[in-house]
Amino acid sequence: MGHVFSFPQITTQKLVLAPTLRLDVGIKADDDDTCPPPPRPPAVTFPKCPVCQRVMAPPIYICQTGHSVCGACTEQLRPPNCPVCQQPMTQMRNRSLEDFINKAKVPCPHRGTGCQLTPEYATVGDHAQECFYRTAECPFAAGLGKCSWTGVHNHVTEHVKEMHTSMFTEGLEAEIEMEGLTMRDCDRRVHVAAQQRNVFVVTFKLDSIQRLAYWTIQYMGPKKYAHNYNYEIHVTSKREPHRKVIFTERCLSDTTKTEDIFRQCLCAVLSLNALETFSTDNKVSYRFVISRHNPNYKPKRLSGEGTHVNTRSPPQRQWSRSRQGQWMERSGQE
Ligand SMILES: [Zn+2]
Ligand SMILES: [Zn+2]
Ligand SMILES: [Zn+2]
Ligand SMILES: [Zn+2]
Repeated sequence: MGHVFSFPQITTQKLVLAPTLRLDVGIKADDDDTCPPPPRPPAVTFPKCPVCQRVMAPPIYICQTGHSVCGACTEQLRPPNCPVCQQPMTQMRNRSLEDFINKAKVPCPHRGTGCQLTPEYATVGDHAQECFYRTAECPFAAGLGKCSWTGVHNHVTEHVKEMHTSMFTEGLEAEIEMEGLTMRDCDRRVHVAAQQRNVFVVTFKLDSIQRLAYWTIQYMGPKKYAHNYNYEIHVTSKREPHRKVIFTERCLSDTTKTEDIFRQCLCAVLSLNALETFSTDNKVSYRFVISRHNPNYKPKRLSGEGTHVNTRSPPQRQWSRSRQGQWMERSGQE
């Protein structure tokens, strides 16, 4: 997953300094401060790169005379000479300027859609990728192609509630019945659950080539919030209600690609042979339960390294997967 963030999106040159950077040198007070000064950090004009004319972006290299140029621009200099004094550029970095810029508070690039945060420059790229105010696709677009809606991430719930009502649950658990599920054709189903501002996307994938079925639940938003939630998937047999498979997993953020989660099996996985034993008339039922992560929860470590269930689970047996990806057999009365 790339964390590419291009600083030049921020056109303003005035970056607010972190409180630790209240230096006496080179700081200019805001010209437009006419009222009694509110308690806010001073603003400073940052040096611009002589090539791209934007605020210098680390890494920053210097020429033999000492002029600074941002790294990306240095690579494009042909010949590799300083654009100011024509002396050769060096491999030396302007570390103090890099440090200064990295610690500067910058507005989130999604300020226009409502984000009020001003992360440090060094982290603004990561923040922007998971910001609640970034542009998001409809959860029924990715891999399903069923909807072309895009909008502010924060508005996804309203959209899904209105346009995909039958695939939306208000609350953190629901019984899902998947009809028309043959074990021969690839399939993908999505359901959205929301509680207040917390939105979760439940994705089921049936891969008829690998002969595996996957479930994952992703939190729409920052990773640090996603980590607060666990989920359980209960696959039950309609014919034999005492037969059940339970998976327990940690929610991941929607910034992680769903396909990567499946590929790495960081989710509930069941072989199609096993899933078939839970299917009646091409219908498979499962229940998802999302709960807040209990910090005291410690999954039981078992020595076995198996990652697959037996293709035919005998009745009364339950299988669940710990966070470490190991299978635990549960006793039937649990
Ligand atoms: Zn530049
Ligand atoms: Zn120079
Ligand atoms: Zn933001
Ligand atoms: Zn949609």
